[in-house]
Amino acid sequence: MPFQPTTPQIDAGSTLPPRPVKAAMLRGAALRCPACGHGRLFRAYLKVNDRCPDCGEELHHQRADDAPPYFTIVIVGHIVVPLVLTVERMFAPAMWLQIVGWTLITLIACLTLLPIIKGTLVGLQWGNYMHGFDPRSGGREDWDGLDPERFAPAKPQS
Ligand SMILES: [Zn+2]
Repeated sequence: MPFQPTTPQIDAGSTLPPRPVKAAMLRGAALRCPACGHGRLFRAYLKVNDRCPDCGEELHHQRADDAPPYFTIVIVGHIVVPLVLTVERMFAPAMWLQIVGWTLITLIACLTLLPIIKGTLVGLQWGNYMHGFDPRSGGREDWDGLDPERFAPAKPQS
């Protein structure tokens, strides 16, 4: 059965013009719209605007999900843990100071990095037409653009 998108805007077999993925990721990292680089990406700390307030680009298609905290934990962990070990070996400060200090440093690093990484991932998704950012998806956020049969109309049960 041939693939028929539910709300065709562009033929499923057509190719899309390439988007500047690196620039989109850098705009997202700057907490700006990946399309124009001017409008604010977030309406709250980690809440992505449904549309860019500047250019109107739909941003609600983003599916960053668990990736931002995952990458934040990996990055912050790889910075803080070696620092903790180095400071302990070189200076051996009081335990209470280390507990308070490293907790604060870790919290501040995580809270700072989280929106930057989320913005970068939204830029990556937008730049690669992932999920609903692909105009061929008809707004489906679970669209992967790879398996047309997956989105074929259900066959009648007999
Ligand atoms: Zn924009």
